[in-house]
Amino acid sequence: MLKLFRFLKPFWLPIVFVLMLVFLQSLSELYLPTLMADIVDTGIVKGDTNYIMSIGGFMLLVAAGGGLCAITASYLSARVASGYGRQLRSRVFKHVENFSLQEFDKIGTASLITRTTNDITQVQTVLVMILRMMVMAPMMCIGGLIMAISKDAHLTWVLAVVIPILALAIFAVASRGIPLFKAMQKKLDRLNLVLREGLTGIRVIRSFNRINFEKERFRDANADLTNTAIRVNRIMAFLMPVMMIVMNFSSIAIIWFGSRRIDMGHMAVGDLMAFLQYAMQIMFSLLMVSMMFVLIPRASASAARINEVLDMKPEIEDPAQGRSADGRRGYIEFNDVTFSYPGAEQPALSNLSFRAAPGQVTAIIGGTGSGKSTLLSLMPRFYDVDSGAVVIDGVDVKELTQSELRSKIGFVPQKAVLFTGTIAENIRYGKEDATDEEVRHAAAIAQASDFIGEMTDGYDSLIAQGGTNVSGGQKQRLAIARALVRRPEIYLFDDSFSALDFKTDAKLRAALRGETTESTVLIVAQRVSTVMDADQIIVLEEGRIAGIGTHRELLDTSDVYREIVSSQLSEEEIA
Ligand code: ADP
Ligand code: MG
Repeated sequence: MLKLFRFLKPFWLPIVFVLMLVFLQSLSELYLPTLMADIVDTGIVKGDTNYIMSIGGFMLLVAAGGGLCAITASYLSARVASGYGRQLRSRVFKHVENFSLQEFDKIGTASLITRTTNDITQVQTVLVMILRMMVMAPMMCIGGLIMAISKDAHLTWVLAVVIPILALAIFAVASRGIPLFKAMQKKLDRLNLVLREGLTGIRVIRSFNRINFEKERFRDANADLTNTAIRVNRIMAFLMPVMMIVMNFSSIAIIWFGSRRIDMGHMAVGDLMAFLQYAMQIMFSLLMVSMMFVLIPRASASAARINEVLDMKPEIEDPAQGRSADGRRGYIEFNDVTFSYPGAEQPALSNLSFRAAPGQVTAIIGGTGSGKSTLLSLMPRFYDVDSGAVVIDGVDVKELTQSELRSKIGFVPQKAVLFTGTIAENIRYGKEDATDEEVRHAAAIAQASDFIGEMTDGYDSLIAQGGTNVSGGQKQRLAIARALVRRPEIYLFDDSFSALDFKTDAKLRAALRGETTESTVLIVAQRVSTVMDADQIIVLEEGRIAGIGTHRELLDTSDVYREIVSSQLSEEEIA
């Protein structure tokens, strides 16, 4: 919690202002009962109307001043808190943007969303409370005590009995409630996760008739959160009635003992009234403190979760001094690369070595789970290798800045991702300043112009969230166009042709050939027909290279390749 407060620095001026205003407000509230005692004991007893009117007027003034301070303080503190929330959110977002995929795997998307929204809101809410109460509570408590003693020192023993009781009650409640708050935040994460999966996977859920299952899953997560919330509130609800009972009983005690003192002539009526009010103020300030005790742990649970994100160092960092590539373009070299995912028992890739050069097409073929996507993801340095090196243009990728490295690469992921916006905007994602001509050209090579032309608004047609209004094959072609418009040195196609029919696949690859004569192309594919005419084919099996060479060479040398081929092509096609 305290760690997060370092981000409050830019707001120091309004904060100081709020604290000052609250100070003034507290002063006015402490002053009012004394004025009232004056009216009762001096004005009314003497029957001096003028005195009553003038002190009464003064009281009104003090009350109005206190009110004004309270309103301004509350406005300012709300502004500070929401400004702080905004800053914190953008800080978290920016930090998360730098994460490598490893960190995303660790925290999880759903939790990242809760942390950036709900958790920050919690901290923000508590910040308002703290700003208002940090000065108010101690002032009312200590100030009230001093004032009460000044009115009648003998009666204060009532407070000496009551306050410990109150403190005990607060402690008992808070110590039970606080652990539950932590649990609540976790359950909210879970609820978010279920909700997210349920919404993004709605098609699959419908088609497999799993709606009821999902409903139940959601109901469970929802009920779990609700039950915890109810338990917390049940405990917290205890506090208020206990406070009220204690307060009312102490009022009775004060009036009871006070009236006897008045009887004996030791105390004035106005002083008793004032004493009563001070007693209330003291107890309310304790209530405030107890609220803080409740809310601060809740917010600090949230703060810890936010800090966890902020403290997480991206495993992949830019080198202090980014080396520039040596002018060569598009040379890729894998030197004995071994890589395992965090927590995995076996490496996903072991001892890979190969080279690829510009003008060449390198195809990678292998069964599902053989490590094809993993291999491609090492080049843009989504992950770092365990041993060996990935060298691009003569420089280890670890020594290049990420932006320089990635500017060399046009990546078409296995699962095409489009963003909300128009088709042209989606293609321009590859190159912000691409001209219309370039966008059209890229779309033409990617065999996308036909279906774009058929859409009502052409290139200005809107892509729905998640790209749900285009087919899988169309999505893939747009993703390819996005990579093409960039004209990178290196093209990485991760199974990007699988959703295309054979004819489009062949046409696209033919068009691609003309486009990529000076670039290095890596194509991951399942279909032999897609890889057959590549300059070199790498056959992956369980993360190892089972064969490397041209189609013809591999037919002679690699059993694995022969197996794949014979499972897909007829005898004559092979010959
Ligand atoms: P392919 O693309 O050839 O189908 P992948 O490269 O996606 O295969 O996966 C290779 C292996 O790595 C698989 O065994 C898979 O379970 C594992 N794997 C893939 N992605 C991750 C990840 N993010 N975390 C842990 N293991 C992963
Ligand atoms: Mg894959």
